[in-house]
Amino acid sequence: MIWNPNKECMSRDEMHALQSKRLQKLVTYVYHNVPFYRNKMQAMDLAPEDIRSIDDIVKLPFTTKQDLRDNYPYGLQAAPASEIVRVHASSGTTGNPTIVGYTRKDLAVWSEVMARCLTAFGVTRDDTFSVAYGYGLFTGGLGAHYGVENLGATVIPASTGSTEKHIRLIRDLKISGVACTPSYALYMAETLEKMGLTKEDIGLRIGAFGAEPWTENMRKEIEERLGLKGYNIYGLSEIMGPGVSYECQEQDGSHINEDHFYPEIINPETLEQLPYGTQGELVFTTLTKEGMPLLRYRTKDLCTLTNDPCPCGRTSVKMGRIVGRSDDMLIIRGINVFPSQVESVILTMPEFEPQYMLVVDRVKNLDTLQVQVEVRRDFFSDDLGRMLAMKKALADKLKSVLSISADVKLMEPGSIERSQGKGKHVIDNRKLV
Ligand code: ADP
Ligand code: ZN
Repeated sequence: MIWNPNKECMSRDEMHALQSKRLQKLVTYVYHNVPFYRNKMQAMDLAPEDIRSIDDIVKLPFTTKQDLRDNYPYGLQAAPASEIVRVHASSGTTGNPTIVGYTRKDLAVWSEVMARCLTAFGVTRDDTFSVAYGYGLFTGGLGAHYGVENLGATVIPASTGSTEKHIRLIRDLKISGVACTPSYALYMAETLEKMGLTKEDIGLRIGAFGAEPWTENMRKEIEERLGLKGYNIYGLSEIMGPGVSYECQEQDGSHINEDHFYPEIINPETLEQLPYGTQGELVFTTLTKEGMPLLRYRTKDLCTLTNDPCPCGRTSVKMGRIVGRSDDMLIIRGINVFPSQVESVILTMPEFEPQYMLVVDRVKNLDTLQVQVEVRRDFFSDDLGRMLAMKKALADKLKSVLSISADVKLMEPGSIERSQGKGKHVIDNRKLV
């Protein structure tokens, strides 16, 4: 089934014309409503009239996460405050979070693209579908929620946590599908087994998994243990939230909702646009957004775009799996964590050397974070009470900055391995296999 064949199956020429028209309108809109873009364009000697088709997009400036932070909270918002009906924020970034405001129309577009995704996964009006992404400032919960409602299926706003209760609900309410992170899906599988239930007892059919990187092997494992078919869904708050792209029944790449989010792949070093089939950094332009439209937003996600015809009948460009990031961001329990955040906390405390290591692991399908840090010689002592207090002080500060708890391990001075070249601050033992 296809939710919106008019848009999802457009001819490439029609799509080109639509994207061109929308880009022209967008550029005029941001030029007049966002001083940040007007200044950038003026500095490049670029006027809205210079953008005549979607191919002219290469003339436009890029936008980075840093730009969003520098313009915190509402500097890049294009719509007047009276038009904004909802705000989300991206998790745990250094310093200021990224604030995203949505107009009523933005929310309508979001539930439209989410309905396309869910339909491609096989969800229909007759299904009861549970959303086990976190509800709150994070876009996952509410984004998926309104998509299910728009489609006309019954939504169960389960959110995360209370996993046993959730599993009983799946069984008792005959819930046929669930949206959550792939690692939470594995945790659900484990809980199911611990409860002495089988996948046949719960009868799940469809999984919408995303918000973090995962692999084919993980898909196989989840499908096997939960007895469902798992589909990839991708998105990011800056662009909208979940629903930017989605797998179809072919499960060979994710179709991008490119009438709303125009994708490009660039070389992250030279910033040149790369042809389809080449791996690079994914960049999106929000073609229809009103609240906080972005020109050429650098996602830092590395992947490949393809435009081969898909047997499902959709004509949109597809993106391959995210194979890495062009920055050092980690996603731990769904929260974005930068090593630099840990560093900045450590640097505020005289007890520690600026020598630290983040050790990330996955224990029973839950991500764990240990922060190893060297204590300065003058502060190192046999007084256990003092050492424990130091450890707690750092753990508390880290928790408030990162929004997740870290296990702090105090190390003797000089014990963390020094690097000759670029400092190495992360050991990621999670095996995405
Ligand atoms: P949060 O919503 O946690 O505050 P973001 O919206 O910034 O964080 O998270 C978006 C990022 O999550 C993407 O840029 C990408 O790195 C990752 N991500 C989301 N969906 C997927 C997916 N299906 N596969 C791989 N990575 C994903
Ligand atoms: Zn397809």
